[in-house]
Amino acid sequence: MLLNNLGYPRIGARRELKKACELYWAGKSSKDDLYNTAKTLRENYWKTQAQAGIDLVPCNDFSFYDHVLDMSLLLGAIPARYMPVVTDVKGNTELDLYFAMARGYQKDGLDITAMEMTKWFDTNYHYIVPEFTKQQQFKICSDKVFEEFNGARQVTGKIPKPVLLGPVSYLLLGKEKESGFNRIDLLPRLLPVYIDILNRLASYGAVWVQLDEPVLALDLDDKEREAIRLAYKEINKQCPGLKIVLTTYFGALKENTELAVKLPVCALHIDLVRAPEQLDAVLAAIPEKLSLSLGVVDGRNIWKNNYAWSLEHIRKAQEAIGADRVMIAPSCSLLHSPFDLGLETALDAGIRNWMAFARQKLDELQELKAILDGNEQLLVTNREAIQSRNLSSLIHKQDVKQKVANITDADARRHSAFTTRQRVQQERFQLPLFPTTTIGSFPQTADVRSWRAQLKKGAISKQHYDELIKAETERTIKLQEALGLDVLVHGEFERNDMVEYFGEQLDGFLFTQNGWVQSYGSRCVKPPVIYGDVSRPHDMTVRWSQYAQSVTQHIMKGMLTGPVTILQWSFVRDDQPRSITANQIALAIREEVVALEAAGIRMIQIDEPAIREGLPLRRDERAAYLDWAVKAFRIAASGVQDQTQIHTHMCYSEFNDMIEHIAAMDADVITIETSRSQMELLEAFAGFKYPNEIGPGVYDIHSPRVPTVAEMVALLEKAAALLPARNLWVNPDCGLKTRGWSETEAALKNMVQAAETARQNV
Ligand code: GLN
Ligand code: ZN
Repeated sequence: MLLNNLGYPRIGARRELKKACELYWAGKSSKDDLYNTAKTLRENYWKTQAQAGIDLVPCNDFSFYDHVLDMSLLLGAIPARYMPVVTDVKGNTELDLYFAMARGYQKDGLDITAMEMTKWFDTNYHYIVPEFTKQQQFKICSDKVFEEFNGARQVTGKIPKPVLLGPVSYLLLGKEKESGFNRIDLLPRLLPVYIDILNRLASYGAVWVQLDEPVLALDLDDKEREAIRLAYKEINKQCPGLKIVLTTYFGALKENTELAVKLPVCALHIDLVRAPEQLDAVLAAIPEKLSLSLGVVDGRNIWKNNYAWSLEHIRKAQEAIGADRVMIAPSCSLLHSPFDLGLETALDAGIRNWMAFARQKLDELQELKAILDGNEQLLVTNREAIQSRNLSSLIHKQDVKQKVANITDADARRHSAFTTRQRVQQERFQLPLFPTTTIGSFPQTADVRSWRAQLKKGAISKQHYDELIKAETERTIKLQEALGLDVLVHGEFERNDMVEYFGEQLDGFLFTQNGWVQSYGSRCVKPPVIYGDVSRPHDMTVRWSQYAQSVTQHIMKGMLTGPVTILQWSFVRDDQPRSITANQIALAIREEVVALEAAGIRMIQIDEPAIREGLPLRRDERAAYLDWAVKAFRIAASGVQDQTQIHTHMCYSEFNDMIEHIAAMDADVITIETSRSQMELLEAFAGFKYPNEIGPGVYDIHSPRVPTVAEMVALLEKAAALLPARNLWVNPDCGLKTRGWSETEAALKNMVQAAETARQNV
């Protein structure tokens, strides 16, 4: 039984690659420095995996920025605008071109935009979207995969397994940059290049090659299915010496099962963590020669593998097709796992014994194999760890479980319908038409961050820190008054991050020291870990909101993060459905909402920027998700009286397919990001006759550019043509945390003026 690994984290145990890239980008280190760091890292990864007994050690899973971008370079899909960088006489190399595609290029009088970036399936990893033209040509333009193959072979003494994104997924994950063709039609031009690459790898001695076709776990149309059939038929015909392991992950094959098992490849990898039920279907359909790689170790979470569970699946497969046709593997690339639990020195020893990061997941594969070879003790030890988690009083809080079980439909419903609430609220607040507000955060300057760092180091006292934050808050409130904003915010200066701030105060969460996961390029996130039943031991934001309200006569919005966003941006429990964890968080947020109301806060915003990204990849699973996600929000929001106004906020995303669910959230006011799409997004809300109040963002906060009054008036007029003016609010697209003060003041001044103009015009 071969041990197969699909990919290893690149960023380094201590984010060495991030730091090396950023130094290089800042011009503070040489290309050689960066290459050397990368080489050392890669060699360590390969050695680690070989020493852990992995038979199929991946190579070419390493990347300076993103593996999809690596493919674009390898295949020569380099958009024409980068040609001046390619041919630059100033000595640009492949790496400069590569980073130009990833990050844009502003040098030597050139100003070339970066390629677009988007989410990798339902993960928090972002890839660089391939760009295709109608006349798109492909040719091998990079030696990276060959160099890594040779490098890994030298370091490990074993034949490594090159990893490539498969041709159909590569095309489908890209985008047509002109009209008049479908990117899937580029396959006949693309395939010969793949075949060249594969044959070149074979000539260097490659035996196994991993081709990732994660699109097999998506809804595909006939044309796309046919493309997959054609691609693998050709590859099989033209690369007879190679063993292809075709990988799928992040979901079940479902109706693509027949297609997948009939492809002429050597092995098929399936994700049994996400979709254990697909094993039966695959075994039922599997032809005689195909091997199976079973993804039994969770590549996307931090929990220890339950060996008994894995063994049950492995044995079932072995019985059905014979042990020699079964491999075991993580469910997907370990890219999505943090690096090494060994670096976590501050965790409670009991809890630590429930966890496994990428490094430990390799050992898990080896231990599973050892158990099958007769080492019973490993199974006993694992069972003890699993049981201690199942029964732990650190995790299981009867009162929390009871509260969730007792949730009724009424708990997820405001007392009165929106029209009644709107009347009551209008009487109470007496706001003008087009009321102005902001999304919550104001600039988190280097000063603010340094106060927090000093507090952490013990260089300043908690009291001193609080005073600094108070002064910054008060200054920001006075500024908002001077600018003439209608509804004020406190600025969120006391928060490091909108999820971490709440996680740190709720029971059931823990934080790691080094649990970083790559999000995009050199950007990493360190998600909190939800390990136990979630409850709220004390008020979280009341003191700051109350303070903020005490320094102004204006309405001060309370500011909370919603349950789905907290869930989505954390590592979650795998011992209960996500919906239950969401409800536990929802009850905790609800208590905070009620406490804010009792403390005299009249408007409360519950941010849900991540609700869209939790949407399942398969259409037929979406309704169920949206049901519980919307309900969790409603539970959080519905503990207050009619006169208390609930706001929510979502960042830019394609809402078209979920407007009715956004409406079902029944927030009194929603603010959304729309300015970059010129209010296009509002058309969906208008088409649906969205009934509640809405603040479509009138300016883009991602850029320091100060918008003019006229352009914001134009956007407001556009909005007023689509939705009733009495329901419209005026606000920026998102929080102002990443902006500087000068552009923030100037932009808000113009925004207030735009609202005044719009009022006069209606
Ligand atoms: N209230 C948060 C802020 O203003 C919202 C951030 C977000 O939508 N991502 O920063
Ligand atoms: Zn936002």
